[in-house]
Amino acid sequence: MTESVHLNRRGVLFVLSSPSGAGKTTISRMMLEADKDIALSISATTRPPRPGEVDGVHYHFVDTDTFKKMAADGEFLEWAHVFGHRYGTPRAPVEEMLAAGKDVLFDIDWQGAQQLYQEAGPDVVRVFVLPPTMEELERRLRARKTDSDAVIAARMERAANEISHWDGYDYVLINDAVEECYGEVMAILRAERLKRRRQIGLIGFARDLIRSVPDADRK
Ligand code: 5GP
Repeated sequence: MTESVHLNRRGVLFVLSSPSGAGKTTISRMMLEADKDIALSISATTRPPRPGEVDGVHYHFVDTDTFKKMAADGEFLEWAHVFGHRYGTPRAPVEEMLAAGKDVLFDIDWQGAQQLYQEAGPDVVRVFVLPPTMEELERRLRARKTDSDAVIAARMERAANEISHWDGYDYVLINDAVEECYGEVMAILRAERLKRRRQIGLIGFARDLIRSVPDADRK
């Protein structure tokens, strides 16, 4: 009985944004591994795949015409230009995941967070992850050994721009130590799941609790 009550709640649309190198990908991977009640929204993009990226796993890689048609047909919950490419969140899988009782995790930028909030309002929880310092961010980008100096300089510029939108988020965390930051992200998820407005199953449950005490003072 209690279990079915707890399952019956509005899903959380959990947005995790950060400049690249701040640890967002690691944290989202940890979340998905640890918690089977949250699933990842896989975006569509016109960006070409990087080595190791798999179509349908990391992104749905599509050409610009296909992307434009999907956008015109209203197939995206949100979409934006990022780094000269188009990125969008396909609507149907998100609706299916929510209908199946899952929470949904979005690895999208500030523009996506804003549009999603316009679309779904308080069902959306927006979390922004900051690096401890810009020097540390640059050090992490260099440690990846995937980018040239010019690409790193462009990423740093882009990071400063991304960070300037931090005030459009509900929660802001500093990723000083990834385990700690992950713990904070999970604390946010757990608390958001317990919010009264999501606990639609508890409406009847609370009413039944009250009714089970015949002479209770209900003023
Ligand atoms: P990358 O090309 O490095 O995978 O991603 C670049 C940026 O695009 C990241 O900040 C990522 O969060 C963002 N992004 C990925 N998918 C989407 C999406 O569907 N919508 C929006 N608005 N941003 C996205």
